[in-house]
Amino acid sequence: EDQIEFIKATVINVEKHQSTSSESFISNSKLKEDRKALPIYPYKDALLQAVHDHQVLIIVGETGSGKTTQIPQYLHEAGYTRSGGKIGCTQPRRVAAMRVAARVSHEMGVKLGHEVGYSIRFEDCTCEKTVLKYMTDGMLLRQFLREPELAGYSVVMIDEAHERTLSTDVLFCLIKDVARARPHLKLLISSATLDAEKFSDYFDYAPIFKIPGRRFPVEIHHIKEPISDYLDAAVVTALQIHATQPQGDGDILIFLTGQEEIETAEDIINHRIRALGTKIAELITCPIYANLPTELQAKIFEPTPEGARKVVLATNIAETSLTIDGIKYVIDTGFCKINSYNPRTGTESLLVTPISKASANQRAGRSGRTGPGKCFRLYTEHSYTNDLEDNTIPEIQRTNLANVVLLLMSLGINDLLNFDFMDPPPSEALLKALELLFALGSLDKDGKLTKMGERMAEFPLDPMLSKMIVASDKYKCSAEIISIAAMLSVGNSIFYSPKDRQVQADNAWMSFHIGNWGDHIALLKVYNSWKETNFSTQWCYENYIQVRSMKKARDIRDQLEDLLERVGIDLTSNVNDLEAIKKSIISGFFPHSARLEKNGCYRTIKNPQICHIHPSSGLSLVFPRWAVYHELVLTTKEYMRQITELKPEWLVEVAPHYYQLKDVEDSSSKKMPRGIGLASSK
Ligand code: ADP
Ligand code: MG
Repeated sequence: EDQIEFIKATVINVEKHQSTSSESFISNSKLKEDRKALPIYPYKDALLQAVHDHQVLIIVGETGSGKTTQIPQYLHEAGYTRSGGKIGCTQPRRVAAMRVAARVSHEMGVKLGHEVGYSIRFEDCTCEKTVLKYMTDGMLLRQFLREPELAGYSVVMIDEAHERTLSTDVLFCLIKDVARARPHLKLLISSATLDAEKFSDYFDYAPIFKIPGRRFPVEIHHIKEPISDYLDAAVVTALQIHATQPQGDGDILIFLTGQEEIETAEDIINHRIRALGTKIAELITCPIYANLPTELQAKIFEPTPEGARKVVLATNIAETSLTIDGIKYVIDTGFCKINSYNPRTGTESLLVTPISKASANQRAGRSGRTGPGKCFRLYTEHSYTNDLEDNTIPEIQRTNLANVVLLLMSLGINDLLNFDFMDPPPSEALLKALELLFALGSLDKDGKLTKMGERMAEFPLDPMLSKMIVASDKYKCSAEIISIAAMLSVGNSIFYSPKDRQVQADNAWMSFHIGNWGDHIALLKVYNSWKETNFSTQWCYENYIQVRSMKKARDIRDQLEDLLERVGIDLTSNVNDLEAIKKSIISGFFPHSARLEKNGCYRTIKNPQICHIHPSSGLSLVFPRWAVYHELVLTTKEYMRQITELKPEWLVEVAPHYYQLKDVEDSSSKKMPRGIGLASSK
């Protein structure tokens, strides 16, 4: 141990190494051949040797070299699962975890969910047989609650480490400890970027294994003048490529920022291609983003039909997490959506932000994987050089930490200010998280986890949602509250409104948003009505409700129901007592309360901040005097989303340590009589 400190990262040079693989028989199977053609294949034995020799290994290799799909299989074949231990591989993104598991199960010729499975929040596709488990980094993090030493794993691979998500960064800290306690656990940290020294330094100078990439030259084009509408420019560029470049010579990949943009771009492209009719070859649009339904995800990997061209419209999921073969042209808008958090006001926002130089180079690289490629950047060279940061700031330094702090505290880690983070979070954000957890009752005055905190940590949800659920015990409406929590967890994809039937859709929507029910109660009404029809798909169609989202909500609800039992809360229903339901909501969300101002805007009560009711809310025309909101999002304005009306005295009732009467006195109604009195006395 003492020695290692002085060894500087050794780079294992395997460039000239040739594989002497035992797999010498020639297989007819195309899949086997494809596996052997991957850049990682010649280094298989060297890699296995390095894993054998070292407990911790940093692995660096270009996207598409085979790190994610091959390394776990190599280790499995080499016997690392023989004594019953699993190989776990983390991914920052849900879609990547699912797709990669699907691919590997296909390569191994086994059914997904058997030997090869995946686990993402609220969806576990594994069984006792599973030996290769792909999962989100967040899921492995939560595994520490049940298995603090990860005893079920013989190998853990933290993949896509360069992404530096919050969960990955926290995993680094925890897994470093576990590795010290379990000398036989193998730990692999893999990354697509070359700045692996930092990982090596952090893991006590672990050796770096470089997989030499095959990369073809990529011609980079920048635009001459800045443009105002990158979406339109991206569509135009794609159509230009399609029209002018030789038919069938390669597909196009466009990087956009999110689902909405992707859908818009898809519509425009399809519309323009249809308008051109037979004058132009077929152009197939393939969207890919985080919430794309599973059954549509496989489309991007299907080979492009003869004579046609594919245009993949992706978020930065296609930057390094997923490799799509056959891409020759990359269109880089230069933007991505990242979350940022203002610890002072507690506002979280998903902002469209310029990417980093590192991202820009990764994106460009996607075009040169199988042959020379071209990358069209929709920003100027000057902008690339002068405006883009070198690297994206790690998520831990720009996000709400309440969730992670609660988890770490329930693992017995109390001194977070001196915790061994690779890059420490701002202390202001840590304190803010502790403050919130204290307000929610999960920490006591001495900063120790309370019984309430322990129960809250059982739920894989934000602390406010967990608190709302635990509080529903007191108000005897846990059945309703877990329905609401499940519906909120699905996101904003319950209602839909087709362009050609907007009136009918609006009417359906209104039948769930009566008077001042508010959005939480509306979600509950939707869920309960659907349940009454015995979860009918037809009912969803008739009411312009997304059946897919509802099924997801039902799955989540089932799991929340199991968790209720775990923390000893009875399932009790109190569907007609809206006040009890609202009080439970407020018990978790009281820090998110706002009051209507004279000018028609809202102002949050603590940490005053001006905000507005989101137009999609059922209360957007009601303007309640007092409101509690689920989230505050910054788009064109600061919007409160998912809102319920409240009585100010409820705030004092559920959170007397947080709100005093003077905070919630209705100043306007108090002052008015006095004003009138003054006027009359003059
Ligand atoms: P890395 O993790 O190094 O970026 P992967 O292991 O994800 O690379 O991918 C290696 C190769 O496997 C890809 O280049 C691609 O050819 C193939 N591949 C991976 N996933 C899929 C999939 N879902 N469908 C088809 N091919 C895939
Ligand atoms: Mg990978």
